[in-house]
Amino acid sequence: MVFLAGGHPDTSIFGEETLREMASAVVGDGAAALQYGSTDGTGVMRETVAEVMTAEGTPVGAEHVAVTSGAQQGLDLAGRAFLEEGDLVLIESPTYHGALQAFSSYGPRVMTAPVDRRGLDVEAVREILSHERRAGYRAKFIYVVPTFQNPTGATMALERRRELLEIAREHDALILEDNPYGLLRYEGDAVPTLAALEMRERGGPERVVYLGSFSKVFAPGVRLGWIHAHPEILGAMRAARKGADLGPSVLSQTVTAAYFASGEWKTYLGRLGRRYRKRRDAVLGALGEFMPEGVSWTSPSGGFFVWVTLPQGIDAAGMLPEATERGVAYVPGADFYPGGWGGTEGRNALRLSFSFAEPRLARRGVEILAGLVREKMGD
Ligand code: PMP
Repeated sequence: MVFLAGGHPDTSIFGEETLREMASAVVGDGAAALQYGSTDGTGVMRETVAEVMTAEGTPVGAEHVAVTSGAQQGLDLAGRAFLEEGDLVLIESPTYHGALQAFSSYGPRVMTAPVDRRGLDVEAVREILSHERRAGYRAKFIYVVPTFQNPTGATMALERRRELLEIAREHDALILEDNPYGLLRYEGDAVPTLAALEMRERGGPERVVYLGSFSKVFAPGVRLGWIHAHPEILGAMRAARKGADLGPSVLSQTVTAAYFASGEWKTYLGRLGRRYRKRRDAVLGALGEFMPEGVSWTSPSGGFFVWVTLPQGIDAAGMLPEATERGVAYVPGADFYPGGWGGTEGRNALRLSFSFAEPRLARRGVEILAGLVREKMGD
């Protein structure tokens, strides 16, 4: 099976020697590593987060950081802390399906604004929020994956980021900036995060709640991520967390902090980036070579995902069983819209993840998929 479905990083090249060194950090301080820890994460881990965010161009202080069990927990905590049944949230369309799932537990009213090649359409956001305001509603937060978005791979342009900050201020909404892929850029210059822009302007975090993850720059198996936000927001999320868990795994934090302290993570990230870049190029090359006219796709400069749009009338979800039977897996576009498989949006789209399959295999996978699309088009 050519796996172009889940956003799985490649963990195969990490290296046993480094793993052994990390494990010895735990053995050296076993009693502490096996103990309960602080809800916000260990001090060392929060310093590590500050170092990673700074490396990404978002210099922050550890005092504004809480460690979570993955960015996914940050999404859930945002829902727990800020949403009540019927509250308005604004999300991108399409968006990360894990966020849709996390928010839906709290019963919000979800509005969507489209994403194009330059990221979230902020004029649409302005219109929606103004319209809602006239009707007496205010959005609690705007959820956005501004860099190498899941699922489209799009990166939000700098002017749009500035404008989004302004709009959020005007409408007194929080911005939930989910940025697990920001450090995985394969070409071009980095665009500042919303968190960095806000801190530059205001001197500290205000309404941007930044969610980070160790899953893509290191390993999803450690289940570690973080929230960077204003102390009041962190406090609200901490309160919401009570009863959910007693804090992130200390064992996991000890191992991860030891690894990041070695400084080796930057070299490893460079290796990962070169690998992903080749895989992306293989997928984009194969799309160009094999897909029939009428099919279009995005060309991301980083991250894991390519978004493929098929001609109207071709049902990507319906086609999936045949695709997997022939040996290629992808995620149907409908997964990334609030209506899901029962809805009307994204039916003729699909997401390919290029992070996991080696170039030769990925190319074969796209060739199989293109063959199937041709059949459905009646070529
Ligand atoms: N947000 C986005 C946009 C993601 O793509 C993912 C992982 N696929 C997550 C959050 C969850 O990340 P984590 O593994 O840190 O929970």
